[in-house]
Amino acid sequence: MAATYTGSCKCSAIKIEMQGEPDIIGLCHCNNCRKSTGSAYSTNAIFQKSAFTIVSGEAKVFEAKGGSGNPAYVNFCSNCGSTMWTLTPMRTEIVVVKMGVLDGDAFEKLTPKVESFTSRRPSWVNCVDGATQFENGFPKPPPQ
Ligand SMILES: [Zn+2]
Ligand SMILES: [Zn+2]
Repeated sequence: MAATYTGSCKCSAIKIEMQGEPDIIGLCHCNNCRKSTGSAYSTNAIFQKSAFTIVSGEAKVFEAKGGSGNPAYVNFCSNCGSTMWTLTPMRTEIVVVKMGVLDGDAFEKLTPKVESFTSRRPSWVNCVDGATQFENGFPKPPPQ
């Protein structure tokens, strides 16, 4: 079956595939995401781990504290530095894919539905129209 979404790091050493649609598409404004993306916020597509495949390459893992204070395992390319996905021991069934690594027109198809840690959003960034706003962490369980 053809993958619904594919992703790769900047140097293409690591390639990933996802089947089906993500459970949640969301922006995160936490400090951890800011540091790991080098940007104002992270753009995330949360998939079931069963829908996620590493096609090639091996990510390096950095254990960070997520915005909620829980550990987050940040998987990145040790060659080019792209942050690709995050795993959490709190919810082992999901994988948080950094949408910037997705190929093709994924960014057009995947509109953010939630924003988390909006208390940290800078005043010059507007909220996404229609996205549910959470002052702190992502909602649990995921909204349908
Ligand atoms: Zn790379
Ligand atoms: Zn975050």
